[in-house]
Amino acid sequence: MIRCTTAHVHLDAVRHNLRALRAMLAADAALNRDAGAGPVAAPDIIAVVKANAYGHGAVGVARALEEAGAQMLAVADIEEGIELRDAGITLPILVFGALSVSEVDGLFTHGLTPTISSPGAGRALEQAARARGTTLSYHLKVDTGLNRLGFRHDNLGRTLQALLASPVLSLEAVYTHFSSADEPDVASVEAQRRAFDTACAHLVACGAAPVRRHAANSAALLRDSRLWFDAVRPGLLLYGMAPGALHTAMDLRPAMTLTSRVVAVKGVRTGEAVGYGGRFAAERPTTLAVIPAGYADGLDRRLEGRGAVLIRGRRAPIVGAVSMDMLTADVTEISDVSPGDEVVLLGSQGGAAWQQIDAREMAAAIGTIPYEIVCRLGSRIARVTETAIDDETID
Ligand SMILES: *Cc1c(COP(=O)(O)O)cnc(C)c1O
Repeated sequence: MIRCTTAHVHLDAVRHNLRALRAMLAADAALNRDAGAGPVAAPDIIAVVKANAYGHGAVGVARALEEAGAQMLAVADIEEGIELRDAGITLPILVFGALSVSEVDGLFTHGLTPTISSPGAGRALEQAARARGTTLSYHLKVDTGLNRLGFRHDNLGRTLQALLASPVLSLEAVYTHFSSADEPDVASVEAQRRAFDTACAHLVACGAAPVRRHAANSAALLRDSRLWFDAVRPGLLLYGMAPGALHTAMDLRPAMTLTSRVVAVKGVRTGEAVGYGGRFAAERPTTLAVIPAGYADGLDRRLEGRGAVLIRGRRAPIVGAVSMDMLTADVTEISDVSPGDEVVLLGSQGGAAWQQIDAREMAAAIGTIPYEIVCRLGSRIARVTETAIDDETID
């Protein structure tokens, strides 16, 4: 049995988005070559599958990305990396997050690449590698202004020496992360880019051999090819969503649709109130569809009065409180709605633009970002993998 509220994960869309990104990077690199400015080689792709692949199901998405030719995967912590290795993923896997001392074993037993973002983490890994009589490759994180994880870019001379001198730790790449790549303001991105350039030069001055560099998430890579360096780290784009206010000519396909079914239809009289708190009072005889998806499934309570669902190809506004396990939509304008009718919460129901609701629209309705919409979908919602008939004919 499967509940009727279901997330359909389109792995063909994930593969398509990766290929579309690669084609875009190659085309832009060729333009740079002709123009004599900017990088002339397309960067590698480190595909980000943290947080259960942004709620889409880490293992399925990782397999799709591996098939489509990503060079590396990235996860938030060691546990996420182990899940992928246990499922047979063989691509290199970068762990972004801070390492807690107790868990570093997994790096060695499961062949994961850690990020070292502090001298203390460097010492812990040095000890662990020595104890195992082995060497470990790592990526170095430099903080250029986000002020979260990473070695401060302006203090590397003091903090890096011991790490770079380690015979058991091998520096594979250096990276940073932008704070505001999806915002119109360019000043902070440019400042971070320069700080990163300087930090990389400093590394070489400290005695490191030249290493690979990466910095750009989806927004940054779309914004400026000078932010590509040797590899880019897209997440959002691969799931078919464009970041922030940025628009892209890329043909992105949403990797997730969320559907349900009407479980009951209810008529209320003028003046009657609907749902907890009775905040919605019918101004006319009103027909409501009851849909078995609520905040326990990650559907935000702020959707009340702001969001909509699609039923019979029409938009039905969400009215009354979103409760834990269900929500109600006003279907007065839609004829013949019956229990069993398909409900689209994210996705399309017909070919017209208004017959589509995407994570960006839902996010805008409640004042958040599309990342949160897909990452928050609850564990009660089954992720059903939709396999394409044939990727290439769809592309
Ligand atoms: C999540 C994350 C990314 C991917 O960001 P998107 O905006 O989804 O492309 C890249 N780099 C780091 C360090 C991240 O944490």
